[in-house]
Amino acid sequence: MSDKENEEKKDSPKNPFDEIQRQLQDMFANANINVMPAGFGFQHPGEPESKEPEPPVSPPEEKDPMDLIRKFFLKPRDIKDDLDRFVIRQDEAKRAMAVAVCDHYNHVRRCLENPDLAEKPYMKQNVLLLGPTGVGKTYLLRTLARLIGVPFAKADATKFSETGYVGHDVEDMVRDLVRMADDDVELAKYGIIYIDEIDKIAASGGQGKDVSGKGVQTNLLKLMEETDVNLVSQTDMMGQMQAMMEMQRGGDAPPKTMSTRHILFIVSGAFTGMGEIIRKRMNTNVIGFTSGLDVDELDEDRLLHAATTRDFVDFGYEPEFIGRLPVRVAFDHLSENDLLAILEQAEDNILSKYIEDFKGYGIDLDVEQDALSEIARRAESEKTGARGLMTVLESLLREFKYELPSTAVKELKLTAEMVADPGKALQDLLGEHAHAQRDIHLEETAAFASRFEQQHGFRIKFHKKAAEAVAKIAEESGRTVHTVCERLFKDYPYGLKLIQNQSGKNTFSITPAMVRDPDKALSELIMKQYQAHQDEGS
Ligand code: ADP
Repeated sequence: MSDKENEEKKDSPKNPFDEIQRQLQDMFANANINVMPAGFGFQHPGEPESKEPEPPVSPPEEKDPMDLIRKFFLKPRDIKDDLDRFVIRQDEAKRAMAVAVCDHYNHVRRCLENPDLAEKPYMKQNVLLLGPTGVGKTYLLRTLARLIGVPFAKADATKFSETGYVGHDVEDMVRDLVRMADDDVELAKYGIIYIDEIDKIAASGGQGKDVSGKGVQTNLLKLMEETDVNLVSQTDMMGQMQAMMEMQRGGDAPPKTMSTRHILFIVSGAFTGMGEIIRKRMNTNVIGFTSGLDVDELDEDRLLHAATTRDFVDFGYEPEFIGRLPVRVAFDHLSENDLLAILEQAEDNILSKYIEDFKGYGIDLDVEQDALSEIARRAESEKTGARGLMTVLESLLREFKYELPSTAVKELKLTAEMVADPGKALQDLLGEHAHAQRDIHLEETAAFASRFEQQHGFRIKFHKKAAEAVAKIAEESGRTVHTVCERLFKDYPYGLKLIQNQSGKNTFSITPAMVRDPDKALSELIMKQYQAHQDEGS
């Protein structure tokens, strides 16, 4: 750059820095704000020179989630009683789990009180649950974790591969647990990890076909015993970069690893086919089998209750792996009566969620006793445990939930006949309330007017006959009043703005003519306004 050019640049009023500075000065002068030297911040005129800093507002006292673990005091019976409120049946599982978690968290508490104890060998009460889908395994564990106040993470064993290259790495579960603990690593150390579909990683003998099952077992074994897990996965590029940036900034680098020593591991599977292994073993050992039961008569459920370490090894597990799961418990199949009991007795059951959903629309959902029985009967035939209840309720109530909120119906009383033919029940219900539907539609035109005012700033008021005409269109077309109005008056915000620009008016009436032919009526209104404006001017 030549000297001349340099000179020109310096003097040029267009120099961007000078220009910005000038604009800033103007702005501060206009705003009556003094510009202070750098480092002093801005000070409003008239404000005392030195003002005592405001005392910091102390944040509300936060409870330390670790307190629940440090002061763990629950007894197995407390836990079982609490579980009874939510989980129907599964008594054996509830008892076994209650004892296992009490033992585990008592040990954790004592280790926290006395770190020497933590150094002594201890056999963790990791648990193996057997049972088909939908019988409450996950639900029981989630309820347990909530009761104890520890984080809970669930994963399916099928997604793990031995190397972590194709599928996920088993250590991902520990990182998930930390996420579930809102990144509180200290709390996550005492959480619960639940691995479902564990039967799919049996290497041979059982149903497991996965050749890498044995490798995954070895990796899981390490995790269940004790290992330090890197909290940033090697495959998580974002996480790696974040950790690096944190280090460069010299900030408090979060702990990089976490020990799995005090994590409670629970694994589960349906173990289809295991019954036959058990039956065979029992038949060959029949001399030592003293219960007098006919082994061939026992169903899969009963057989799973009798599973031993040897059966699991025959199914395809490494003896070391199965040995790390000392607590084993089989869940019961849920009968029609159990499903009915879930609907009638279990707190927070799936039906209560639907009742709340309908309440959100101002509709009372009431299910008569015979309807409950019919729902349970249909759910049982799905053969998916309590998940069948969800399937049946969803297909039963979906259309009611879609239609009723836009109708006059404020009460839905379900009977067994309605459960058998929900489509007809819905049509009957709509027919019964047709007369009241007009009132609802009229209310909805008023609701549209108020939304129109909020969105566009114009107050619109429907003539009675105009509102009735809108209601009629809605009824005949099967559309909602809102949709009908949106379509009819889509150009009105723009048209009314034109009128307002000239007249200052912001209140308008919606006439029957506007409903009949909204565009024509709007054009006429605009023309009339322009005419009036011209007349005024002349
Ligand atoms: P799974 O045994 O496959 O883990 P879940 O625990 O996920 O089954 O069950 C699905 C849902 O069914 C739960 O969220 C819960 O609402 C309900 N449910 C299952 N079993 C029971 C039970 N024994 N008591 C009460 N509700 C149950």
